[in-house]
Amino acid sequence: MVEHPLLDMHLRSLKLPAMLGNYRRLAGDVAEPVEYLTQLAALEVSKRHENGVRARIAAAHFPVIKTIESFDFTLQPALPKAKFLELFDCSFVEQHRNVICIGPPGTGKTHCLLALGLPACTRSYRVIFVTAAELLMGLISAKHDGQLERKLRSYERYDLMLIDELGYIPFEREATDLLFQVISRRYERQSVAISTNLAFTDWTNIFPDPMAATAVIDRLVHHGAVFEFAGESQRLKARQRRGKNANGGQD
Ligand code: ADP
Ligand code: MG
Repeated sequence: MVEHPLLDMHLRSLKLPAMLGNYRRLAGDVAEPVEYLTQLAALEVSKRHENGVRARIAAAHFPVIKTIESFDFTLQPALPKAKFLELFDCSFVEQHRNVICIGPPGTGKTHCLLALGLPACTRSYRVIFVTAAELLMGLISAKHDGQLERKLRSYERYDLMLIDELGYIPFEREATDLLFQVISRRYERQSVAISTNLAFTDWTNIFPDPMAATAVIDRLVHHGAVFEFAGESQRLKARQRRGKNANGGQD
């Protein structure tokens, strides 16, 4: 095979690895020069997109990968399936709208938040997944270090923030205030998807300041869709299945 060390060098310095890896093979297949270049450029574009998706998924800090394809809607018969699936074209991120998943533990809320994150990464949105506890601990410690503004600004670069398990944390006044700041900065500018075990009516009881609770709910829901999850915990069911298997399915 004829070597082209100069071309190899140029493609390397231009950071065009897909072109570098394919130009020899395609030279035999495509004679027309513009078509040849078009096909090579297309390979580079798709490789770059793939790398971008991979990098955005890594940056999102998903604890595990969950997909909507593996979500069993028959376990959530009251969830409006068609409306819920519409979220997965990510137009809600484009429109700076929010998603709120409410329901008891083990009903698939975290699964759905994680699953929402994936198509957003594919569509070139910047995504971050955090638990409410992690988020608030990070904000409180930044505040004590005089870095609150910086920390708050660091979240503004995400198009979609997935906040998991709001409601399992003690709502002290300081935490509520910080949560309010995160939500209000994103209001009409970026999207939030949250999961919570708390019905909105309980928020006002748990927040130290009912006005603050109302303000947070207002901003979340104003341009948002609320989805209610219900039923038994799938975690518990899985454990029961394992228990049965462990004693040979006798009981
Ligand atoms: P939640 O966040 O509501 O407490 P999770 O999303 O963590 O619940 O769900 C617990 C486990 O059960 C996870 O492994 C999740 O993938 C699984 N699970 C829950 N609901 C469903 C469902 N409808 N279809 C498939 N898996 C589910
Ligand atoms: Mg959860």
